[in-house]
Amino acid sequence: MRILPLLAALAFSSTVLAGPKDIVRTYPAQKVHANTYVIHGPQGVPSVENQSFMNNPAWIVTADGVVVIDPGSSVQAGRMVMAQLRKTTDKPVTHVFNTHVHGDHWLGNQAVLEVWPKATLIGHPDMIRLAKESAGDFWIKLMSDLTKGYTDGTRAEIPTVEAANGQEFKIGGKTFRIHSSTDAHSKTDLMIEIVEDGILFTGDNVLSRQAMNLRDGTFKGVRKETERALALNAKLYVPGHGKTGDRKLVEEQKAWFDILMAEVRRMYDEGKSDFEMKPVIAEKLKAYKNWAEFEANLGPQISLAILEVEQE
Ligand SMILES: [Zn+2]
Repeated sequence: MRILPLLAALAFSSTVLAGPKDIVRTYPAQKVHANTYVIHGPQGVPSVENQSFMNNPAWIVTADGVVVIDPGSSVQAGRMVMAQLRKTTDKPVTHVFNTHVHGDHWLGNQAVLEVWPKATLIGHPDMIRLAKESAGDFWIKLMSDLTKGYTDGTRAEIPTVEAANGQEFKIGGKTFRIHSSTDAHSKTDLMIEIVEDGILFTGDNVLSRQAMNLRDGTFKGVRKETERALALNAKLYVPGHGKTGDRKLVEEQKAWFDILMAEVRRMYDEGKSDFEMKPVIAEKLKAYKNWAEFEANLGPQISLAILEVEQE
């Protein structure tokens, strides 16, 4: 009779320890346009609760195959994305674009290659360089720490093809036009426009109803890219996090940045410090207080804005 508690203990531990075949819980894919699908992940930082999954993986079914954008944060998340993708098409995945170096967007590459080993992985040249230097190891460890080991087994599958600003990739009758930058959200950012459909995948240069983590970026750069996204006049904007929508979501982000920057500039000239500025700016931004990561990222954004004003 002693075997029963042992079995119970084993059953319990198997829910805690991740195995090599693990896959995150299923999230539905949304068809946002003909042949274009997005899985809108939950908003927030990677955690035990969300099993690391919190970005917006997407795919476009072209005449020749499937193009994936940002297949998720781990091999386990990428497997879920591949399972959902295969419900929408029998075509092979031929290309993967990674919008930037942050691991929540590209550590799922491994899961694409598990199914489609010949798929071509494409990224910003600085993303490729940084991922090889140290960012790959950094993000694998961070994901594992934040999920208490759930993402273990994830490897860094780094893009091999560089995408340049203005470059166009013609794939299966669609044009994927690259709008890249070196000083925005992560300094390794690609925005990807599907020219024929008027869809812009913004990566994390634009988020929907989420206060941006700008620790690796600059206000100057990300505001410029926000303006650029608006100037491209897309019909549909797919942000790095948060729901897909029209230009209103980009205008909201622009308004947040405009308010914050103007207030920092005004109070900087008055000789105020960051902790004096924060409650004033939080009040000015109260229309946005339900945005994801508001509390976590407002303070660091103000500190960064002060540094940039000082440098002007
Ligand atoms: Zn992200």
